[in-house]
Amino acid sequence: MRLVTRAQWGARAYRTPNGATPYSRPRRGVKLHYLGTAYSDRPHDQCAAYVRQLQAQHMDGNGWSDVGYSFLVCTHGYVYEGRGLSRRNSANGNTALNEQDYAVLLMVGSSGLTKPTDAQLDGARDAIDYCRTKGGAGSWLGGHRDGYATACPGDTVYAWVKQGAPRPKTTTPEKGLDMTDEQLFKAVWKRDAIPAPTTASTYKTNPTWKAESYFPHLAEQLSRLTDKVDALTKAVAELKKGA
Ligand SMILES: [Zn+2]
Ligand SMILES: [Zn+2]
Repeated sequence: MRLVTRAQWGARAYRTPNGATPYSRPRRGVKLHYLGTAYSDRPHDQCAAYVRQLQAQHMDGNGWSDVGYSFLVCTHGYVYEGRGLSRRNSANGNTALNEQDYAVLLMVGSSGLTKPTDAQLDGARDAIDYCRTKGGAGSWLGGHRDGYATACPGDTVYAWVKQGAPRPKTTTPEKGLDMTDEQLFKAVWKRDAIPAPTTASTYKTNPTWKAESYFPHLAEQLSRLTDKVDALTKAVAELKKGA
């Protein structure tokens, strides 16, 4: 398992005493979660910053003592330590549910990137096994929606975990060599087409949103305009010299 410890991802210290509350009995199993907001995939060197941002949302926005999840899994298959094996999570809906099962988040959204990668499923499977072998979790597997009214962890992740969270077959040949340009464009760009925020409050729920990610061509046009302005400024300066 590619575990990223709290020190490695730059976690803030959790608040006491609540953040230090231990589980009072063994866990029945593991519940999976998704982000429930728009998410776009990113290079792995930006994943730790995203985890720190989630921790800040949970501590400063929700007023919790720490990031809510036990573990968080990025699309590259790394497992970030949240509350870990012994401190009670705060992600499953209420204290009884938090006591009952570990909470493992897959960093996929309810829009944008919604389907976990194979590496991520492998990482989630690693986290489940870790909760069982090192954290004494029982064999039960499910999602946030089990026993609590929520769409989390989304239909794709839920179907996977209810099948027993199998490791993905890594021998599947890569598709895409015979894609048309249009199919390729859709496959590559559709993932970044996350919805624009329409109000201040939806902007808050998707703090990673940028105008460029919704209109990739705008950034390019802006940089062309900037070049033109620079050239004109130079020309004016030359004219002034001559005058
Ligand atoms: Zn959830
Ligand atoms: Zn990553």
